[in-house]
Amino acid sequence: MTIDATLGTPGTTGAHDASHGDASPEEFHVQAVAAHAPGNALAGTGYVAGIDLGGTKILAAIFSPDGSIVSRAKVVTGRTGGIDVVERMAAAVREAAKVARLDLSQVAAVGTGVPAPVDPVTGVVHMTPNIDGWEDMPLKQELGGRLDGIPVAIDNDVRVAVIAEHGAGAGVGIRNMVGIWPGTGVGGGLILDGRIYTGSSSYAGEIGHITIKEGGAPCGCGGRGHLEAYCSRTAIVRHLEKLIRDGKKTRLTRIVGRDLLRAKSSDLAEAAALGDAVVVSVLDRTARYLAIGIASIANLLNPEMIVLGGGVVEALGDDFVENVAKRVRREPFRATTGPLKIVASALGDDAGITGAAIIARQMQVGLHP
Ligand SMILES: [Zn+2]
Repeated sequence: MTIDATLGTPGTTGAHDASHGDASPEEFHVQAVAAHAPGNALAGTGYVAGIDLGGTKILAAIFSPDGSIVSRAKVVTGRTGGIDVVERMAAAVREAAKVARLDLSQVAAVGTGVPAPVDPVTGVVHMTPNIDGWEDMPLKQELGGRLDGIPVAIDNDVRVAVIAEHGAGAGVGIRNMVGIWPGTGVGGGLILDGRIYTGSSSYAGEIGHITIKEGGAPCGCGGRGHLEAYCSRTAIVRHLEKLIRDGKKTRLTRIVGRDLLRAKSSDLAEAAALGDAVVVSVLDRTARYLAIGIASIANLLNPEMIVLGGGVVEALGDDFVENVAKRVRREPFRATTGPLKIVASALGDDAGITGAAIIARQMQVGLHP
């Protein structure tokens, strides 16, 4: 396996704005310092590692006791699946530790986000569509076993990103905050009274499956009219395909070819920036349905802030977030929607490793299983 590793500058955080592009590691860290100061949520006893497990790549970073990123490593997830992916996660942590000139015994705890519903208490991943052979994978135990018994905290990847935004990103100091992450699906997470809210069986925050239209578009879960069926990248692309079948013309077919399912969030953003009327109207529809979902959430929970994150929002940028916010402000029940702040995530690609390090810190003091 190939491992890329970079040394973080001590005393800086790796948190950055999403515009770093292909910046070299040096440029990357210069931007990092400018963008964010280390949050207290990342500080604690000893060094910890945060892992962001994705379907294509595994990112790992080591955080110092003051909460700064001291090193990073990247490993390809690969297609073998199963226990090999756990080996690769362990290899990424070992490499990041080596780059930081740390012995593995100096890493006190490890946290990781997983692209699946997980049970943080048992540490078992029941299944994930992104990685083969992870049916009932005892990840906490298997990963800890490959890292000389370092305690491991695991949680759902979107929940981890929301924890990151609350602890070290857009929502620092906010008491009640809801994160909504449109991507392949639509994930979410709830911060209530300053803490992540997990519900009775750890599945709270599945915002993608709230109903916004009775008998509406089919959702991946088998239901109909759910938020995810209108606002995920998949739903956006499916709706575009329908419009094209109906004879509408869009530049998107020139950008990605006939198979629109290959369209990335950046392709949608490019077409929108070129003023493509079909793409603009579909994104407008997405903003409208997101606003309906947000208004319901606001009426139920009365949070101070909604953070929108994930690939779609990151690619579309502030115009999209402002479009959603404008529509929420038109909702009639002003007591909850009027004062509500709606913002884009601040940590970008670093939300995963940052939130993973925060759950490792929380585990150290008994606030996470
Ligand atoms: Zn659903």
